[in-house]
Amino acid sequence: MDASTRDSDTGTAQIRDAVRVLCGRFPGEYWRALDRERAYPAEFVAALTEAGFLAALIPEEHGGSGLSMSAAAAIMEEIHASGCNGAACHAQMYTMGTLLRHGSAEQKMQWLPAIARGELRLQAFGVTEPTSGTDTLALRTSAVRSGNGYVINGQKIWTSRAEHSDLMLLLARTTPREEVKKRTDGLSVFLVDMREAKGKGLTIQPIRTMMNHATTEVFFDDLRVPGSSLIGEEGQGFRYILSGMNAERILIAAECIGDAKWFIARASAYAKERAVFGRPIGQNQGVQFPIARAYAQMRAAELMVHEAASLYEAARDCGAEANMAKLLAADASWAAADMCVQTFGGFGFAEEYDIERKFRETRLYQVAPISTNLILSYLAEHVLGLPRSY
Ligand SMILES: Cc1cc2nc3c(=O)[nH]c(=O)nc-3n(C[C@H](O)[C@H](O)[C@H](O)COP(=O)(O)OP(=O)(O)OC[C@H]3O[C@@H](n4cnc5c(N)ncnc54)[C@H](O)[C@@H]3O)c2cc1C
Repeated sequence: MDASTRDSDTGTAQIRDAVRVLCGRFPGEYWRALDRERAYPAEFVAALTEAGFLAALIPEEHGGSGLSMSAAAAIMEEIHASGCNGAACHAQMYTMGTLLRHGSAEQKMQWLPAIARGELRLQAFGVTEPTSGTDTLALRTSAVRSGNGYVINGQKIWTSRAEHSDLMLLLARTTPREEVKKRTDGLSVFLVDMREAKGKGLTIQPIRTMMNHATTEVFFDDLRVPGSSLIGEEGQGFRYILSGMNAERILIAAECIGDAKWFIARASAYAKERAVFGRPIGQNQGVQFPIARAYAQMRAAELMVHEAASLYEAARDCGAEANMAKLLAADASWAAADMCVQTFGGFGFAEEYDIERKFRETRLYQVAPISTNLILSYLAEHVLGLPRSY
């Protein structure tokens, strides 16, 4: 895969090399053992943190490395292209943007340098709820003013990494839906210190999933949080969360590109060496063509990821490009995963080859953090001007 990485290099060669070297310390055996136990890759996350990669997007004045979106995307891509999985820690890269853009000077000073130093983990992002699902404005978790703080009640689902995070960025309703002027008003963002909250109204229950993802459901039962945990203005939380979505889409798309590169590299290598009927299976065009098609699909998606990242860096509107990057990259990684299983034949199903594990892992991106249908609906309505469907 070196060839395609070189071809598409956007001036991030040194970062890519450094990430690759780090990932070399975490080979397939490491991930397989964790996968069996559904255990968290604590050593891998610690190594990334120590190397400063998770603080890539935190500006230098707040103790981070102040790198560009392209550099951050390159980090996530290389993690995945190396066969590792950034889902254990990617949220920190994009959730901290909400704090950076909308937090007060005190909040930024209190949290960002400690996050950049790796002393605090901001890995949990509590938006999705069991009843509202994709319809975020229908969420029910409430935060009611009480004294100089708030009391939170409700439930979140799919709050990934909550057991491995100190802080949670939480979206909750502060004004009942029927009392708001605009339907997007009335939700607020809180930075909840889970070290304080656990056992005092916050309960976390792990959910076992088809891949190793450390995801959970979280229950709030009269949890008191101080007023200082409110980020920005009360009632404006939905906008704050939306403003961070483009970064999230671009970074996840980069992970998908990395996955696709990994599958294509594995399939190409195997097709050259596996001999059946006295010749390499890769000599058959029936085997070559799906690999070549997956490569072309990945490269096209990669261009859109670069386009979205460039627009983001230029502070230009990149909603359409970030969404298309996520859509195309998730499709490319899933197509490459399917092709790779087919190329490996029976061995694609054997745990020791890592294909089946990566196949399960990359399937997620058709659904989360936003599902393919919702991206198509965004493009139809906001880019093509088709009638609003919901
Ligand atoms: C492993 C995992 C980790 C996650 N991590 C987090 C996290 O850390 N924090 C967090 O807040 N959330 C997280 N999520 C939640 C994720 O963002 C949601 O699962 C995703 O947005 C889809 O929402 P839903 O599951 O409620 O599906 P639903 O909203 O119930 O939708 C079900 C299906 O119907 C489709 N659908 C719904 N409405 C429409 C429509 N109007 N038109 C066309 N199709 C439609 C959807 O595309 C989807 O395919 C995670 C999910 C998973 C599985």
